[in-house]
Amino acid sequence: MTRLALQPGATLGVLGGGQLARMWSHAAQSMGYRTAVLDPDVHSPAGLISHVHVPTAYLDPQGLARLASECQAVTTEFENVPAQALAQLQAHLPVSPSPAAVQVAQDRALEKAHFVRCGVPVAPHHVLAHADDLPTVPNHLLPGILKTTRLGYDGKGQVRVNTRTELAAALAQLQNGHADVVCILEKRLPLAGECSVVLARGQDGDCVYLPVQLNQHRDGILAITEVFEDALPAATAQHAIDAATHIARELDYVGVLCVEFFMLQDGPDKDALGPLVVNEIAPRPHNSGHHSIDSCDLSQFALQVRCMAGLPLTQPRLHSPCVMLNVLGDVWWLGGRNDQAPDWAAMLALPGVHLHMYGKTDARPGRKMGHITITASSITQARTVGAQVAAMLGWAA
Ligand code: ADP
Ligand code: MG
Repeated sequence: MTRLALQPGATLGVLGGGQLARMWSHAAQSMGYRTAVLDPDVHSPAGLISHVHVPTAYLDPQGLARLASECQAVTTEFENVPAQALAQLQAHLPVSPSPAAVQVAQDRALEKAHFVRCGVPVAPHHVLAHADDLPTVPNHLLPGILKTTRLGYDGKGQVRVNTRTELAAALAQLQNGHADVVCILEKRLPLAGECSVVLARGQDGDCVYLPVQLNQHRDGILAITEVFEDALPAATAQHAIDAATHIARELDYVGVLCVEFFMLQDGPDKDALGPLVVNEIAPRPHNSGHHSIDSCDLSQFALQVRCMAGLPLTQPRLHSPCVMLNVLGDVWWLGGRNDQAPDWAAMLALPGVHLHMYGKTDARPGRKMGHITITASSITQARTVGAQVAAMLGWAA
């Protein structure tokens, strides 16, 4: 049933107070909504800038009750929030995405089963719940990547394995004495590249999406996203969008969803583009969609606000080709000590540079501290400035 739109002035809530919730909060507040955040960290990036911050654990019944009483609708900024927390909130107010959809996204085995049900290609895989299951692994899955089915992110919770001996060791390592940790072995695929689609699906089933994003990872963490017209052959881009909308529809999804794809190599030429294989989904805005704040007339965060408030969705338009670079905590450690703040002024002297910092004070290696989007009139120009910014961030060429 379609409900009435929540008007500006209403309070929108989010579970989790990291950078995704912070940028969502910025978007909501710019439209006149109040925002409320539940996150145990008193210094959480979104808690710092929201009207209400409930600093309790995600399963604290009183914290959840307070969030429910403050808000008219709730969303989540990460998939590892316990489904119970969302279910408790849903008893009192609209929750999007639904606990059922989040449950699928937080478990790689359920996620893969959903993709298979949708008929979209996935990496060959095998679920491993116990060392006794090792002999059931087919040979063709090696070399592979063993991943925990739950709680993995930014390449954490996964180990590359070449042999059965390495696989057995990796399972023991990831289970680390916890027999209830279920893992999934995926065949390692020859990648020509990676891309993603961020879409938003409203309560009425209408779906809009950002243009397909090309993503480059370093050490399992997204490093660079590029977005521009004709970044992919039209048929490939359409295939990604069709697969993403199909996955969302079959989840009865409401909210912003990111679908990540592997672009396979086509034969021996490492750069030749072959078919797409879906990798994983995130039931929320995604790092690869951050560019949309500066490059599109509607950002992924504004879309998330519209979805949860029951407002109309319109197709976002990319107005500027762009390059997005993640700013990781490593930059502060370039001299071996945690005191090397990057030269922001030098970066901002370049044309089309948009700096986004998340308000985190503790710069640890691998921690996402902020991002920089470079917009330009052509992707060539955006890449030229991007290379200058990357050099200032200490990235090796
Ligand atoms: P995370 O939840 O940490 O993002 P992913 O499953 O997306 O985990 O894996 C992180 C990265 O590792 C991917 O973006 C890709 O670069 C690489 N990767 C993961 N699985 C495979 C695979 N089956 N074949 C080849 N590369 C992979
Ligand atoms: Mg990923």
